Amino acid sequence: HFDVLTARLPAATGDRNFVLSFSDLTELRKLEQMRADFATDAGHELRTPLSVLLGFIETLEGPAKDDPDALGQFLPVMRDQGLRMQHLIEDLLSLARIELNEHTPPSDDCDVGKVIDKVAQTLLMKAEAKGMEIKISCNLDNTDIVGEEKEMTQVFVNLVENAIKYGHAKTNIEVSITLAKNPPGALARFRHDRILAVAIRDHSDGIAREHLPRLTERFYRIDTARSRAVGGTGLGLAIVKHLVQRHRGTMVIESEQGVGSVFTVYLPAKANDNIRTLHRA
Ligand code: ADP
Repeated sequence: HFDVLTARLPAATGDRNFVLSFSDLTELRKLEQMRADFATDAGHELRTPLSVLLGFIETLEGPAKDDPDALGQFLPVMRDQGLRMQHLIEDLLSLARIELNEHTPPSDDCDVGKVIDKVAQTLLMKAEAKGMEIKISCNLDNTDIVGEEKEMTQVFVNLVENAIKYGHAKTNIEVSITLAKNPPGALARFRHDRILAVAIRDHSDGIAREHLPRLTERFYRIDTARSRAVGGTGLGLAIVKHLVQRHRGTMVIESEQGVGSVFTVYLPAKANDNIRTLHRA
């Protein structure tokens, strides 16, 4: 933000100078506020499982000391709470790391088709446990992008995992890789045959329209209790958004109530002549 501020100042004069600095400072305050809110939210999220854990430890040391069944009953709950904290800490660290290098474009090659196959393999057991199948369709010979395989894996694990978590049991999850017909936003400037569209479709209660624009905010959850029950941290889509941005892509979320949702990730293809321009843009 200071870069923006100093870059604009020499061109501005007199009063305008003041107005510009003022509006940039407002932005800066907003950013500071967001960071403070984030730290508070993260603290609250960690405090809950920690209190539960400490409560059980106290009970095991005190009133339930001589109860032979207590340990067996409490341990699974304690493990769940420990795992919840672990997931949250991992997601917080991921987000911090991603933000650090968000403005450095990736330089490796990555085959998105291969990533999707691996992700489906990794999540097979979770899907099967809900009687679901992950169906993949791809009509392209080449699905290469300039990107980091590890980060793309994280993007699609998060999206397919959500489709499993929030989708109805015994329905299928459909993943399709195609060339985008109408890429959104800045990507629309580029030739349509050069943007990959990876769509993840689930069958669920769907998401009400008013929630859609806020889903990628940190800790935004439609139903916090349900999200926690299925092992959610509320950070998954925020992580996806930042990683996709780093790859100069965009995500579009569409949903129909009572039918299900489609999360589409648009990414510039490796074969894209414009890719260098796009990465500089
Ligand atoms: P969480 O860890 O809670 O799943 P995410 O950031 O991944 O966090 O998602 C944020 C919220 O968006 C979820 O809590 C859930 O309410 C909603 N959501 C995400 N994916 C889906 C989906 N496929 N279907 C319905 N709701 C979803």
